Amino acid sequence: MKRIVILGSGESGVGSAILAREKGYEVFVSDFGNIPEQYKSELLKENIIFEEGHHTEALILNANEVIKSPGIPETAPIVKKLKEQNTPVISEIEFAGRFTNAKTICITGSNGKTTTTLLTYHILKKAGYNVGLGGNVGKSFALQVARENFDYYVLELSSFQLDGMFDFKADVAVLLNITPDHLDRYEYNFDNYTRSKFRIVQNQTPQNYFVYCLDDTTITTFMQNHPVHATCIPFSIKQEIKGDGAYLNEKQLTLNYKPNQQPLIMTIEQLALQGKHNVYNSMAASIAARIVDVRKEIIRESLQDFQNIEHRLEFVASINGVEFINDSKATNVNSTWYALESMEKPVIWICGGQDKGNDYNELTDLVKARVKAIVCLGKDNKKIISAFKNVVDTIIETDNAGDAVATSFKLGKKGDVVLLSPACASFDLYKNYEDRGMQFKAAVRSL
Ligand code: ADP
Repeated sequence: MKRIVILGSGESGVGSAILAREKGYEVFVSDFGNIPEQYKSELLKENIIFEEGHHTEALILNANEVIKSPGIPETAPIVKKLKEQNTPVISEIEFAGRFTNAKTICITGSNGKTTTTLLTYHILKKAGYNVGLGGNVGKSFALQVARENFDYYVLELSSFQLDGMFDFKADVAVLLNITPDHLDRYEYNFDNYTRSKFRIVQNQTPQNYFVYCLDDTTITTFMQNHPVHATCIPFSIKQEIKGDGAYLNEKQLTLNYKPNQQPLIMTIEQLALQGKHNVYNSMAASIAARIVDVRKEIIRESLQDFQNIEHRLEFVASINGVEFINDSKATNVNSTWYALESMEKPVIWICGGQDKGNDYNELTDLVKARVKAIVCLGKDNKKIISAFKNVVDTIIETDNAGDAVATSFKLGKKGDVVLLSPACASFDLYKNYEDRGMQFKAAVRSL
């Protein structure tokens, strides 16, 4: 019997274990850290053998194939050993993809993945499709392949998942943008990260689709040097697109798909998701939906009634005329760029956290124009202070959400906005970005 070992026992690991067991493999799960209770009880219920707190090499190196959680870096000693002895190390998506014939819409990019994935799912649901949602959001793809019978999946894919994908083929691949992120996992080499993102098109043929942002020069340059075999459908807010694709004409979003059909036209005021970045996300989701034949009217309605998700430019409260916005999910420089760009009032900017090799220069002009004070919320704020000390007069350091909010409130005047958009990961002070966002909101509400 083939032995499958699963490294990491979170959502994707447990889903993979359940699917592998169902498909008749010998399964062993190993987690170097502690396994959360909910997942432990799932494994126990399914009689799946597991260990936590360590990796027993003898039980791992004898695997025929290993499914690795996206959170475990390639440089982890156990992964290195597996690679040295040529044991295939794959991702949950690669594994689960072998056991379903459902059509997949796969969404990647440095920013906007979750928003676009949920929006695409919302459109397909509204159209009455039998569709699952997976990847980085919701239940794992593997668990759904084991237990459900969907005709379509909308999958959010990170570069880490893509790195473990080899034979998987996306029916529709969406690439939103490529800007520096996670460089610590790519030897601080942007080309490595770019190549990783482009794995989304591997194995595609002209019968498949590649939906991409024509305004992103990293994407277009890469495509010039590495031709994509799928049918390519671009979107842009900078130029009109003549054939199939979506573009912005003044304030009008136009989507053309199939030359003999009328375009879908909407004004950007009609979109539920506001901000330039969300125009991109809305275009990408609509093209993907048209490709799988969703009617234009359904797309229009869905783009209007979609509910924004927590921690993404989320309005929290207005107190004495000072508005508070939670954008805790902005964990890299580019997402914060879009947040600052969409601000129309003077900003007190709460930023900082765990640095991922950030280059803050890109933000200088926007910070100069819009930010009146910076409140650092991180353990080590040196980089932010040195990047902005000649740009903003007031920079104050804090190390907890309560102090950051109280300080910002003191600095704020009626008509200002306090924006938490950290441009950094949260792990220096928080469990994750959700925890950071929740603590921020709690602090605002107790002002
Ligand atoms: P991801 O899943 O890729 O991290 P999210 O949809 O969760 O993306 O959004 C992450 C952050 O990036 C949020 O702060 C959001 O406001 C911002 N954002 C969303 N879409 C885009 C985009 N297309 N380009 C740049 N920033 C974006």
